[in-house]
Amino acid sequence: MPAILQDKETNPFESMMSRFDAAAERLKLDPGLYQILRVPDREITVSIPVMMDSGRLQVFIGYRVQHNLARGPCKGGIRFAPTVTLDEVRALAAWMTWKCAIVNIPFGGAKGGVICDPSKLSNSEIEKITRRYTAMLMDVLGPERDVPAPDMNTNEQVMAWVMDTYSMHQRHTVTGVVTGKPIELGGSRGRHDATGRGIMICCNQAIKRLGLTREQTRVAVQGFGNVGSTAARLMQEGGYRIVGLSDINGGILSPDGIRVSEAIAYYKEKRTLAGLPGTRSCSNAELLETDCDILVPAATENQITSHNAGRLKCKILCEGANGPTTAAADDIVEAKKIFIIPDILANAGGVTVSYFEWVQDRQGYFWTENTVNSELERIMIESFEAVVSYADLHHVNMRIASYMLAVDRVASTTRLRGIYA
Ligand code: NAD
Repeated sequence: MPAILQDKETNPFESMMSRFDAAAERLKLDPGLYQILRVPDREITVSIPVMMDSGRLQVFIGYRVQHNLARGPCKGGIRFAPTVTLDEVRALAAWMTWKCAIVNIPFGGAKGGVICDPSKLSNSEIEKITRRYTAMLMDVLGPERDVPAPDMNTNEQVMAWVMDTYSMHQRHTVTGVVTGKPIELGGSRGRHDATGRGIMICCNQAIKRLGLTREQTRVAVQGFGNVGSTAARLMQEGGYRIVGLSDINGGILSPDGIRVSEAIAYYKEKRTLAGLPGTRSCSNAELLETDCDILVPAATENQITSHNAGRLKCKILCEGANGPTTAAADDIVEAKKIFIIPDILANAGGVTVSYFEWVQDRQGYFWTENTVNSELERIMIESFEAVVSYADLHHVNMRIASYMLAVDRVASTTRLRGIYA
């Protein structure tokens, strides 16, 4: 959808900016720093010509936005989707800056995207898009400059192609240029599950605050990709009851609990969740409004808006996706006293283990999965508690507290570095 056709509520950049503005105002952020942090450092648009399998040439549009590199090299995923817009990539890049600051890892924020529909492309066409996109960004990517990772519709194989293309141009193997790679190519143990695991760790902390036990806690998860299916699986293994799951085509509900490993096996075979024995089908709208204790939107942006927020029944909203709740829905969610674990905290487990992967690549020494998982747990708990303390100290909700903490950290680094002129 072109940016101009998106209304103000569903424009992800507007959504991000209105929270940033609220945090900046409460922090009494210096007007000069405000000007620096509200705009991306650099935006690049590339035209990617690809010889399709049919022999026809097609040009795809790709973006890379580097929002801020005050705290270190830029870090952020690459998304392949027909709905990619420059405003979406801008918002996602800024969210990466805030997210890396919340978990206190030495990265700035970036994001990339290519407007394409991978479901209509062959593997070889996806590989060509990936390699040409990487080649066109040779001067801006690099372990010390900008380090991509997977996002919607990109995976370990796509990251392997980015690494190989970059390495071919450098004339030596550079594993640290991307994260989320296959383990054989310098990937990290635990990276695949990291975002879902981080979501579970945040939920563990949140239910303690609300006086709930895992066994009492019913969870509905929207999105059955990397983030959603992993969060659901790990949470069930951890004792939670999973009462709803969905993908883009709709969902399934079962108040008695869905066995997630069975749902994963069923989905692998049938490519749909509909019809899983012991469940009934529902729409995505119904799933979001279902009776549950924790709702995990882990699909895409703008799922909880001013139109449906009033009908949410969850006690905790844990945002697995980036930007699943619009800024206009925030007040409604707050009025309903729903405890929100904002995206820039809830899904930061992914970039945290990406950081571990980058560290391991640079050291050439690889950690055990136990080390990765326990370091991830330490960082997620510290970050969750830091946001809670900020919320208590400043009498703001978790959303604004998370932005305040992040903006404060990035502003302080910028102040210390000074302005090069
Ligand atoms: P994915 O492509 O693996 O899965 C996306 C899932 O969402 C699929 O099941 C798809 O069917 C579903 N979906 C897409 N559009 C939908 C819609 N309109 N309604 C309902 N379901 C829909 O992607 P992913 O890596 O799991 O990422 C999901 C979200 O999490 C994105 O917002 C992404 O930016 C964010 N995220 C991902 C990571 C990561 O490590 N992969 C880290 C942080 C944040």
